[in-house]
Amino acid sequence: MPIHMGIMCERCQKIHFIGMSRGIKLTPTVGMYALNCQFCSETREFRKEMMRPYRVRDDVFRTGFAQEGEYEVIPMTPKQPRTSNNAEDRR
Ligand SMILES: [Zn+2]
Repeated sequence: MPIHMGIMCERCQKIHFIGMSRGIKLTPTVGMYALNCQFCSETREFRKEMMRPYRVRDDVFRTGFAQEGEYEVIPMTPKQPRTSNNAEDRR
């Protein structure tokens, strides 16, 4: 199944997909989005870093949102030790 970036509505736990959900809009602030959940009327702003990858079927993605059981959370890849600033640990 393909992976898409989305943001979870904390109130009703539905995942909204960026670019597909009508509930997600850019705000005038760079890097900030506004979520207007059409299911529970929750409104909040979030940073694009708060979006997470979810694995969903294409037909679910196309509806713009997914509810529990329709998606799989992809664990964020931990930072590679090699690329982080760990050189000092080896001294
Ligand atoms: Zn909601």
